[in-house]
Amino acid sequence: MTKASEYVKSIQEEIHAKDANQPEFLQAVDEFLTTVVPFLEKHPEYEDSNLLSLITEPERFIQFRVPWQDDKGNWQVNRGYRIQFNSALGPYKGGLRFHPSVNLSILKFLAFEQIFKNSLTGLPIGGGKGGSDFDPKGKSDAEIMRFCQSFMTELSKYIGPSLDVPAGDIGVGGREISYLYGTYKRLKQYDAGVLTGKPLDFWGSKIRTEATGYGAVYLVKHLLADLDENFEGKTAVISGSGNVAIYAIEKLQALGANAVTCSDSNGFIYDKEGIDLALLKDIKEVKRERLTAYAEQRPSAEYHEGSVWDFDVTAELAFPCATQNEINIDQAKRLVANGVRVVAEGANMPSTLEAAEFFIENNVYYCPGKAANAGGVAVSALEMSQNSQRLQWEAEEVDARLDGIMKNIYEACRDTAKEFDAENNFMLGANIAGFARVAKAMYAQGLV
Ligand code: GLU
Repeated sequence: MTKASEYVKSIQEEIHAKDANQPEFLQAVDEFLTTVVPFLEKHPEYEDSNLLSLITEPERFIQFRVPWQDDKGNWQVNRGYRIQFNSALGPYKGGLRFHPSVNLSILKFLAFEQIFKNSLTGLPIGGGKGGSDFDPKGKSDAEIMRFCQSFMTELSKYIGPSLDVPAGDIGVGGREISYLYGTYKRLKQYDAGVLTGKPLDFWGSKIRTEATGYGAVYLVKHLLADLDENFEGKTAVISGSGNVAIYAIEKLQALGANAVTCSDSNGFIYDKEGIDLALLKDIKEVKRERLTAYAEQRPSAEYHEGSVWDFDVTAELAFPCATQNEINIDQAKRLVANGVRVVAEGANMPSTLEAAEFFIENNVYYCPGKAANAGGVAVSALEMSQNSQRLQWEAEEVDARLDGIMKNIYEACRDTAKEFDAENNFMLGANIAGFARVAKAMYAQGLV
């Protein structure tokens, strides 16, 4: 064991003892720590200053009560959170997730990942995340509004355009951001840059809705170009049916791939003729219905209950765009047996650590979430720039910048992996490239 690997092990033990009841956070930290050892060997100053202990501890976290009244007049209470994990590179930046599974462990893993993802974008943003265990499913518009108003009444005390800039995530889209923004404006003042993912009418950025999905496809486009290949004639399996999945499918189709699946929390669609995007958008974005409605209206589609990753379909490309830990080791083996060559994570940590390692060992180009899905937060940072300028850029300009950022991220992952003798290990490449920038800033700032 080298000195650096002993140091990393001691940090892992410390965190596992401290945060034993936070399995998702421990998973994200373990994945990160096991890959940065060779980098620490080159930078003994980070071990000497115990930088890993600092970087794995949030600068601050806020938990608050969110009381709201349902349509029957009953009072309900949910938990609200904001994790302000790291501000070395800029204001805390990261989404809000409204989902019944939300707890401290999940938000800490998301905020921790966000630090390195945001660093990879090359833009001046720190890492944060927040949300609530509120379940938007089945709630009326009025209930969503009252919940958002109550949530922001408390959160507004802790955020600001140069302090902490939330955005959307699972369960938080344009509608929720609008209610949140309206409440912030009423309580504080006009400050467009306090939230991103705003509708275009009041200072949102063009291409923000599409950015995470498009970005994941752009990253793979640059990878394929490196191999002298493109999307023409390739089949892609996609999970999820939120904005990440929808716009990944849109860009895949535009570039010539056949996107054949999408999913929700109950089941999935297999459409061998390719997903009918207009129908999918109508069901998910307009009517907010379940995917069973898709199969009812599309003769070529099959609807199955359960996980799309338990389904056998020959495909070279996989885009998990649903949620954390959706691909376990058995499902990873199935994907490899069915011919997968590229896995690009539109969701955050959709592969378990075992699954991710299996992909890498089996020469799959595994593109981890913090690289592949960074396009969303990158365009959020561009939205912040536009808000500061009081300008709204054209879609072509934002799209071109997004493509350029994804190219830089791909090259950083590729080149860093090579530099550390781990060619094509983009997990290692992404972790080290993301960490290098944050570590340098923290060290220069006096480890604060
Ligand atoms: N929730 C998204 C993510 O996981 C976007 C965050 C943002 O735009 O701030 O990166």
